Amino acid sequence: MNWTDVFATRTLRMKASEIRELLKLLNQPDIISFGGGIPDPDLFPTAAFQDAIVSALNPGNESSALQYSVSEGYGPLRDWLATHMTALGIPCVRDNIMITSGSQQALDYLGKLLLSPGDTALIGWPTYLGALGAFNAYEPHYDRLDPGSNRSAEDYAQTAQSKGGRVKFAYASVDFANPTGKTLDLSERGAILDLAETLDIAVIEDAAYQALRFDGEAIPPMLALEIARKGNIEACRTLYCGSFSKTLAPGLRVGWVCGAAQVISQLVLTKQAADLHSATLNQMAIETVASTIFDQHTGMLRQTYKARRDAMLAALSAQMPEGVEWTRPEGGMFIWVTLPPGMDAAEVLQHALTHQRVAFVPGQAFHADGSGANTLRLSFSLADEAEISEGISRLGQAIRAVRG
Ligand code: PMP
Repeated sequence: MNWTDVFATRTLRMKASEIRELLKLLNQPDIISFGGGIPDPDLFPTAAFQDAIVSALNPGNESSALQYSVSEGYGPLRDWLATHMTALGIPCVRDNIMITSGSQQALDYLGKLLLSPGDTALIGWPTYLGALGAFNAYEPHYDRLDPGSNRSAEDYAQTAQSKGGRVKFAYASVDFANPTGKTLDLSERGAILDLAETLDIAVIEDAAYQALRFDGEAIPPMLALEIARKGNIEACRTLYCGSFSKTLAPGLRVGWVCGAAQVISQLVLTKQAADLHSATLNQMAIETVASTIFDQHTGMLRQTYKARRDAMLAALSAQMPEGVEWTRPEGGMFIWVTLPPGMDAAEVLQHALTHQRVAFVPGQAFHADGSGANTLRLSFSLADEAEISEGISRLGQAIRAVRG
């Protein structure tokens, strides 16, 4: 059978993530990897989850833990999240929250909800690769969201129209972004809200790393800023996507969307049609663990990852050749490195894997326009301080060797 003839046109833009392919190569023990942007499994609250899962399956509970459930998500978890979001400056109730299978599913559902083929999505250059993957299936065009530029709303609207659709949303990873580690400041957040207001489009606020701020002042989420402008969440266009993956356990696949109840109801219909609901046992376990140790556990994570970020920044200062620049993130898991113009990070990776045994992710894949060949992403979440220092020294050697 010729499968390509029967595959839908949306599959043309589906491709294997270069990062996942790369991760397969990294299991060799002598490679120091700054590639995978994943939490350190040694930091998982395993004992707390063991207790939570046993208790969810205790007699009396099993009928809810193992049974079909509602698409909105497990009620006590939605209530815990409403309180959590309220503490972040987003006063809301259970009806403003839908549980998703990771925030990745939220991105997919929002793409499905908002994009007709040919519409335009505004995204950063570079941006989270998983967001591109999720949106690509809905066949959009992309235009560059650059809150620092003076580009007019009219220009965005006309560009989208000339491509046969309209702008539907602006997507931004707000805190310690994947891949750059950068945080949008107050004026950038305000500029995105202003643009969205003029264009009358949705804002997708990706807050996957929100809880991992090590230092500096917390900046209110865009949804909080919009509520401050408009008085209440029901009048807002921002849809906040949160996740327990970076704080508690990515394998349980629990995330959430918070926004106006009207949009949440529509998302619930999307979820009903797609997977009925996220795994109840996982949601129950997350609710038990979050309601007992969230603050204490995330405090420990911040301390541990901060020490690793500091070690990486110190090693970069000591080891990088002239002309290499990097970001100084206030949290999260990533540092973004820019090599001198003309250098190719993919070539450095080849050399680094073969000769220095150190790995990272070349930055080009994060750019929807194919630019960024001289950029790369380093993750400091997995290696300890000694490995970080050694690995960055090896990276310096690889860059020098390729530069010649
Ligand atoms: N957004 C960003 C910016 C991410 O880095 C990730 C995970 N890499 C996600 C969303 C998705 O995470 P999850 O589906 O595990 O919540």
